[in-house]
Amino acid sequence: MQRYSILSLAKNALSGHRGWQPAWRSHPLKDRYEVIVIGAGGHGLATAYYLAREFGITDVAVLERGWLGGGNIARNTVTIRSNYLRDESIPFYVKSVALYEGLTRELNFNMMHSKRTMIDVVQTWPKLRDLRRRQLGMDIYGSTYERITTEEVRRRIPALTGGGPDARLPIICGMVHTDAGVNRHDAVAWGYARAADARGVEIHQQTPVTALIRGANGRIAGVETSRGTVKAGKVVVAVSGHTTTLTETVGLKLPLRTMNLTAFVSEPVKPLVDVIVNCPDSGFYFSQSDKGEMVIGGAPDQGQSFRRDIKQHVFEDTVTAMLSLFPSFKKLKLMRQWGGHLDIAHDASPIMDETDVPGLFVTAGWWGGYKAIPAGGLTLAHLVAKGVPHPLMAPFTIKRFRHLDFVMETGTTTAR
Ligand SMILES: Cc1cc2nc3c(=O)[nH]c(=O)nc-3n(C[C@H](O)[C@H](O)[C@H](O)COP(=O)(O)OP(=O)(O)OC[C@H]3O[C@@H](n4cnc5c(N)ncnc54)[C@H](O)[C@@H]3O)c2cc1C
Repeated sequence: MQRYSILSLAKNALSGHRGWQPAWRSHPLKDRYEVIVIGAGGHGLATAYYLAREFGITDVAVLERGWLGGGNIARNTVTIRSNYLRDESIPFYVKSVALYEGLTRELNFNMMHSKRTMIDVVQTWPKLRDLRRRQLGMDIYGSTYERITTEEVRRRIPALTGGGPDARLPIICGMVHTDAGVNRHDAVAWGYARAADARGVEIHQQTPVTALIRGANGRIAGVETSRGTVKAGKVVVAVSGHTTTLTETVGLKLPLRTMNLTAFVSEPVKPLVDVIVNCPDSGFYFSQSDKGEMVIGGAPDQGQSFRRDIKQHVFEDTVTAMLSLFPSFKKLKLMRQWGGHLDIAHDASPIMDETDVPGLFVTAGWWGGYKAIPAGGLTLAHLVAKGVPHPLMAPFTIKRFRHLDFVMETGTTTAR
């Protein structure tokens, strides 16, 4: 793998940037691999990378129906945090946040990681109780959550001028999560892809998988693609909102539904907010990008949907909530809006497991799954390679739905 450094940048600048190698290669598609990973999003690429790096399994093909990193990894608002509710969830996300912090060095790819803190603006007592409960759990697992006064919230977020004592929902206090940060989503996809390719993993773009194939013995045998049949003893489904479309081709039903989550950005403005602001009672959050744009998100649309744009009423609800706390933002011009797919399990926790079809693995239910990519990839690779779950992922088994052993999570911006 060509090493990226200030020296290589200078050397290539002097030679007109003609010496850069492609970040990953294109290979002919073989008819058999040891492992097929479906989906070149964050989770698929990270799984392929850790299979090669941690377990020496390099006969791996990642099959992507579009272009690498063009799915939800390109459509999210890049918030990375570990302020979860359950004992099962918090250590998993603490690990993922820690892996993210070392990812630039690990992959030799600039993630533009910015550990900038998230501040929850709390406006109701029930929400404060929920967050204080999180704090107790997070303390145990080494994550950070601290209560601050309303005055301190306003000092740290000067643009927050709404929510005064006469407002419908006055601000009560704030909760500060210093582990939270943001980074560049494209870099996560490209960095994992480049490092996986360097270890021998093949990435095949424009290769949609149309069906899974089961052998006579009931095990997974491979996949049908637009480019023909490809066999493998192990297949990982990492297709985000499209999981059930594929698993149903082998008669497997999963407790997932796909919903639409949206975001929008403003024109770039001067530095205004240096933390991630989350307003759970009002139902919106935002951060300011390095370019100066406000990156704003709200609650998911409650209906099942494969839309990739924003519904007008969802947009209006989010903007109305935002203006109640940040009235000066009414002058901002909004530049772009988009949506993406979330697959949500009934208990709002992920599913990472081998399915009832031996050799077929799924990683799904990632409705806030950007932050989970490093730990998700690492732990799923462990299961695929060793046949036993990594301790951090063990609670997220499919079997929990049979035994009613749910890991009931809640969102931070919305209840669900
Ligand atoms: C608006 C929005 C904001 C979000 N904000 C955050 C956030 O701030 N923090 C956070 O943690 N999470 C966030 N998320 C969630 C996060 O983006 C997803 O949970 C995560 O990206 C999903 O994992 P992935 O990257 O592997 O998915 P994807 O990038 O969607 O990867 C799946 C890939 O599978 C491919 N695929 C699908 N079907 C097939 C097929 N049949 N054959 C071959 N390939 C196929 C797709 O083309 C895609 O490239 C947000 C999501 C949205 C939509």
